[in-house]
Amino acid sequence: MKQFQYTAIWVLISFLIFSCTPGDEVNIYSSRHYDTDMELYENFTEETGIEVNLIEGGSDELIERINSEGINSPADILITVDAGRLWRAKQAGVLQAYESDQLNSVIPEELRDADGEWIGLSRRVRGLIYHKDRVDVSELEGYWELADEKWEGRLCVRSSNNIYNQSLVASLIETHGIEDTEEWARGLVSNFAQTPQGGDTDQIRAVAAGVCDIALANHYYLARLVNSSNQADRDVADQVAIYFPGEEYGGAHVNISGAGITRNSPNRENAIRFLEYLATEDAQQLYSVANNEFPILDGMELPGVLDEFGTFESDAVNVTSYGANNPDAIRLMDRAGWR
Ligand code: FE
Repeated sequence: MKQFQYTAIWVLISFLIFSCTPGDEVNIYSSRHYDTDMELYENFTEETGIEVNLIEGGSDELIERINSEGINSPADILITVDAGRLWRAKQAGVLQAYESDQLNSVIPEELRDADGEWIGLSRRVRGLIYHKDRVDVSELEGYWELADEKWEGRLCVRSSNNIYNQSLVASLIETHGIEDTEEWARGLVSNFAQTPQGGDTDQIRAVAAGVCDIALANHYYLARLVNSSNQADRDVADQVAIYFPGEEYGGAHVNISGAGITRNSPNRENAIRFLEYLATEDAQQLYSVANNEFPILDGMELPGVLDEFGTFESDAVNVTSYGANNPDAIRLMDRAGWR
């Protein structure tokens, strides 16, 4: 009898130890796909012995998947772009707080979730990309002034169903309120050179092609053209320059790519270690540069093209507001006739 009791206790203890010890792995669901990311994961494995398993997909698809996998989800980390989407993931209940003093100390407060459910990992700035011959940089002010009459028929902006513009409008709602931002949007729409079409790169191409004089686009799309192996792309880039609104005009609109730990993460400790690793200078060098984005850490050396773009003054709007104001932004853009 005693022998049986010992055996039963031993089985129970082994079961508890086995079921509570995480495997040496971390499972990442990512909507990012750059060749250098692989190097990033390999470096992490080398440093920690933790294997990285990767599942790629679209942002909304991954959020949906984590949700439907529920408590059995193998996902530890969700990586995606735009604070608006990270906010959506939080609202969908697929994330949990990360609890890391290191992350809180190195990542600026306005670039992470107030409840610690996600963090920014790189910065992307929505710039005014203008034709060097048809616009003098001294004429440029802020996003707000793009609604002025002087830009009538001179702007290229993509459609309102794109999250980048939704987040820009959401940040303007944060600083100017809904009513004034709606009036601004009407002015902006009346300055469009054409019905919104295509992505950010298409807006830049349209400036070079003479369709318009200024495009709103994330900085890394221009960086890609500058670095392109295709001469035609570099010819486009040669004709334009990028301008980031300075502090006197409210500053530049900064968005992030970022990540959060999933609600039912089976390897939570490893997940926190991985996020902490991504926020180190070495990892940032690979992570942000992969997409010509600005690192999340201040004072890092920038690769050639980013250095040429120059520094920017952030509008200091907390990126959490991009999600919170997103429904208002979408409705407002619709009312203003921004298609
Ligand atoms: Fe993009």
